Amino acid sequence: MMPVALTEMTLPQERRATCLNCPRARFEGWRPDYRCCTYHPRVPNFLLGLALSEPASEKIIKRLVHEGFLLPEGMISSPNQWAHYLTDTGEDRFGRSEKVLCPFLEQKSGLCNLYAFRNSVCSTFFCQHDHGDKGDRFWSSMQTVAQQVEMALGQWALNQLGFDVKAYMKRLNSLAKKIEKVSDPETGAWTPAALKVVWGKFYGRELELLTACGDLVRKHRDELWKIANTIDILEAHQFDRASVRIVPKKYRSEIDAEYFESGDTSPPRDIWRGLKALHKNLWALPAGSLSFSPRAKILANPKEDDEGKAFSNCSHMVEFRARRNSHDYEWREYIPADQAMALLWFSRKRKINDALLERLSEITKQTPSQFLSEWTGKKVLTKSLR
Ligand code: SF4
Ligand code: SF4
Repeated sequence: MMPVALTEMTLPQERRATCLNCPRARFEGWRPDYRCCTYHPRVPNFLLGLALSEPASEKIIKRLVHEGFLLPEGMISSPNQWAHYLTDTGEDRFGRSEKVLCPFLEQKSGLCNLYAFRNSVCSTFFCQHDHGDKGDRFWSSMQTVAQQVEMALGQWALNQLGFDVKAYMKRLNSLAKKIEKVSDPETGAWTPAALKVVWGKFYGRELELLTACGDLVRKHRDELWKIANTIDILEAHQFDRASVRIVPKKYRSEIDAEYFESGDTSPPRDIWRGLKALHKNLWALPAGSLSFSPRAKILANPKEDDEGKAFSNCSHMVEFRARRNSHDYEWREYIPADQAMALLWFSRKRKINDALLERLSEITKQTPSQFLSEWTGKKVLTKSLR
């Protein structure tokens, strides 16, 4: 569903987000059985329809329909589920939640039961980035493009199947006045009365509609990007604004400012243009001279704490301290001896030229462009002003 050009892009490997050996769970107190799946992903109808062909996901989707967790657009958080999530983030419980968990997570194995059909957020989220902030910006933009495509295709499929999306949005908005009654405060499930309103003539035939959306998208698989760019995405703004009433006042500051915007959404191709520039920037070889940042330090790995021991194959670590938005922050990354040596080589100013690239390729096992783009992305190597 994305442009063909995506297949030609070199994407960061994101080697630090080692999900089945999750660093947040090992070193930062996140639950090893939940990790970053402590949210309710918005999964569009057609992905659920496609996932019905997999026995493990089929079982879960049938249960979700039965318990009232799905809408015609797909798996969309109810107002109470949203409030539970914001309460968690407000209490710094993301990754530690007792209540909010994606229903597709297989807790014992840590595997995702929706993997091949997981949504744009799940497939573009990495908690750490090889290219630092640059990588974060690139993946966020990718996520936005894919989210728009998912929403557009979900609505396109519904309209094609005779489910009028405009009328559906009106029905959702009609629930704004009784927002307190559309979902269960404890479980977060949509109430049967609300489900009857939103599913309309497909109430009781939910699986049929999801399957048909999946089939339709599969049938048009070679033209999805084009289709997604012709659709005006509709939203139920009145309903969305009313949902805020369910969120406890003290956690409303957790709501993204974007949530309150009610303008038109940009077509995915507009965001894609910006994403291409971010991608170029990701791998761009810096010009001029670079030197090792005064905010960073290279230390021997003392192998004393759990993290140091876990990376015992790395002889060194980079420690980075900085200040952003009036907050101090720091991070560290364990690195092998060859990278430590290459970084230390920038203790004095080095001009980027062919000789430097050749020298780097002798010192590190990475390609010079990978080495330079990653460490400048993380701001450990900076443009030298000296
Ligand atoms: S992306 Fe999630 S599961 Fe993977 S390493 Fe990061 S926090 Fe852990
Ligand atoms: S769909 Fe999969 S990856 Fe996404 S939150 Fe659920 S279990 Fe995690």
